[in-house]
Amino acid sequence: MIAKFQKVAVIGAGTMGNGIAHVFAQSGYEVNLIDVQQAALERAFATIGKNMDRQVSKGALTEADKTAALARIQLSTDLAAALKDRALVVEAATENVELKFRIFREMDAHAPAHAILATNTSSISVTQIAAVTQRPAQVIGMHFMNPVPVMKLVEIISGYDTSATVLADTIALSQDLGKEPHASNDYPGFVANRILMPMINEAAWTLHEGVATKEAIDNIMKLGMNHPMGPLTLADFIGLDVCLAILRVLYDGFGNPKYAPCPLLVNMVNAGHLGRKTGRGFYDYNAA
Ligand code: NAD
Repeated sequence: MIAKFQKVAVIGAGTMGNGIAHVFAQSGYEVNLIDVQQAALERAFATIGKNMDRQVSKGALTEADKTAALARIQLSTDLAAALKDRALVVEAATENVELKFRIFREMDAHAPAHAILATNTSSISVTQIAAVTQRPAQVIGMHFMNPVPVMKLVEIISGYDTSATVLADTIALSQDLGKEPHASNDYPGFVANRILMPMINEAAWTLHEGVATKEAIDNIMKLGMNHPMGPLTLADFIGLDVCLAILRVLYDGFGNPKYAPCPLLVNMVNAGHLGRKTGRGFYDYNAA
């Protein structure tokens, strides 16, 4: 644990927020986990407990360390009070530009002047988020991967005005969480999604044009490239709506037609077939 960052806060207790709170608490940090919904906070705390139980059963965590880690997490719906003594705040709320701007204005108003304000956004410009605050040099992207306790990567995104000290501190913090941080500058999609989403889009085009079946496309990429899963399976896991939204960010951000979303992907999202979360995407999960 890096002492000067001992007190942190995580805003948003959804899929990513509970994982981020988990890894900070497990590494000795005191975490205020904040959400607008009390039910989301309680669900997140239960999920963290269950995920830690799994670590205990695998011998990766002791029962005593689990109890101590859970005791370091405080749940709150009062953002202003929960930020007042925090050295780092990681925002992991719903992916919506206007919402992020509003939350960052609140973070800026209530977190101490020295605090670092980080966002876990997958696709929104860190520079634009930073620009709504009075401390753009202290705003940075900390892009954790799902599931957070398992995935090693943290993509660290410097906005246009992010200081070198804040970048160095954020890298050191991520390493202290047992993660492997890698730095990127703030351009659409950063690195991970700029490369991943065109691959998923091309897989959708390959299916759309009847070049091969979905199983063949996935197996060719899985076996041929040594990927743990094929691109269509991965898209179903991420959510087709999320993939489409990120492709649109790339398309709008670069103005380059190579990022134009495949019409099949657009149709599937319009039909409400968003992947695993709706039971149907490129594959049908209801049957299994
Ligand atoms: P989610 O929908 O699971 O959770 C979002 C949470 O934010 C909800 O609990 C919601 O109640 C809460 N929230 C909404 N408005 C709020 C407010 N004003 N104050 C506090 N909390 C508020 O979303 P998620 O999948 O965890 O994604 C969160 C962020 O992480 C997004 O920016 C997303 O792009 C990014 N991200 C997601 C993934 C992923 O695989 N899910 C991966 C990397 C990054």
